[in-house]
Amino acid sequence: MAKKDGPPLKPDTLLTTIGRDPAANFGIVNPPVYHASTVTFPTVAALEAVNRTPFDAVYYGRHGTPTTFALQDAMAELDGGQGRRGIACGSGVAALDATIAAFVSAGDHLLVTDSAYDPTRRFCNEFLKKFGVETTYYDPMIGAGIAALMRPNTKAVVVEAPGSLTFEVQDIPAIAEAAHKVGAAVIMDNSWATPLLYKAFDHGVDVSIYSATKYVVGHSDAMMGVIVTTPETFLQVRKSVAMFGAAPGPDDCYLALRGLRTLSVRLERHDKNAMKIAHWLKARPEVAKVLHPAFADCPGHDIWKRDFTGASGLFSIVLNPTSKAALTAMLDGMRLFAMGYSWGGYESLIIPVNPSAIRTAVPWTAEGPLVRLHVGLEDVDDLIADLADGFARLAAAS
Ligand SMILES: *Cc1c(COP(=O)(O)O)cnc(C)c1O
Repeated sequence: MAKKDGPPLKPDTLLTTIGRDPAANFGIVNPPVYHASTVTFPTVAALEAVNRTPFDAVYYGRHGTPTTFALQDAMAELDGGQGRRGIACGSGVAALDATIAAFVSAGDHLLVTDSAYDPTRRFCNEFLKKFGVETTYYDPMIGAGIAALMRPNTKAVVVEAPGSLTFEVQDIPAIAEAAHKVGAAVIMDNSWATPLLYKAFDHGVDVSIYSATKYVVGHSDAMMGVIVTTPETFLQVRKSVAMFGAAPGPDDCYLALRGLRTLSVRLERHDKNAMKIAHWLKARPEVAKVLHPAFADCPGHDIWKRDFTGASGLFSIVLNPTSKAALTAMLDGMRLFAMGYSWGGYESLIIPVNPSAIRTAVPWTAEGPLVRLHVGLEDVDDLIADLADGFARLAAAS
């Protein structure tokens, strides 16, 4: 925006102003979509004048166009500004992999929360392992106790709060303090909260990563990852991203920027609907536990109250033990809740998940099945009716 000075703007105002510059684009409100591979130079002098390493020059499509830069700048501003920089990637996984790879070399050690997104584990177990990087998985609720797992060669700690299946809220300030004592970087998967609900850098995080596919894009129609780094970690991470080459397309950057404008109002409604449904579920006889950070049942509930400014629309429930056939009867007949692995769009989703097949540090011991819900923007009473019908099918098949 043209007029940059004045007191700091509040988050909702930021969302409507960041990443756009009408004065540079014929007064048009939104930034244009630049499609580019080749960028041409009029003279040898201009060709040689390009300064590549700050990664803010337009010189080759893969390294970004003004559309990419607009999204990157917007996300960095939203994450607190102060010289932080955004890096857009073709997916959340691309963002996570390139960031983790930026901090480790052969012979190094990595600490990863047992609640981490499963493809992050696969990257550590199958890819990094080939290059001699050892990963230790730790109890997400370990807090300051993580100090005992630090080794002289521990270079990074991966945190995710809450876990996207099991919803443990990690004590990231305590973990960051222990990590920084041995010079390890703290890398956070902050997809659930977005910069609006969790200020990662205020809690000791060095690199905050978003699967922007989820709430930032918000409409289930594009893949996008965004990394936000401190000034100190930027070049290390940016070079790694450049080497992986997983550049996002300009149309998807545009969709992410467009999604960002309504992030706050969407999250507010996701939260309101999810809270109403979570309370309704809590009172159901079929439900053993509600794993939602705003509920006392959820490990780390007190940390969530201390460190987060709100909740989004994704949470899980543990059902009382039931047969596979009964659960299937419930899930197969849903009218509004669709079954799908992603989340963060406007529509509601429900999916059975099985952390016992994934975890290695802390066994998953719940007796009944775990079901994850993403609560969308539908009328909440219609959603509750859909779940009530589902429980009736479950009972009939039990
Ligand atoms: C979906 C997801 C990712 C990966 O993002 P993609 O954009 O799908 O690659 C990473 N972390 C969490 C917590 C996610 O839910």
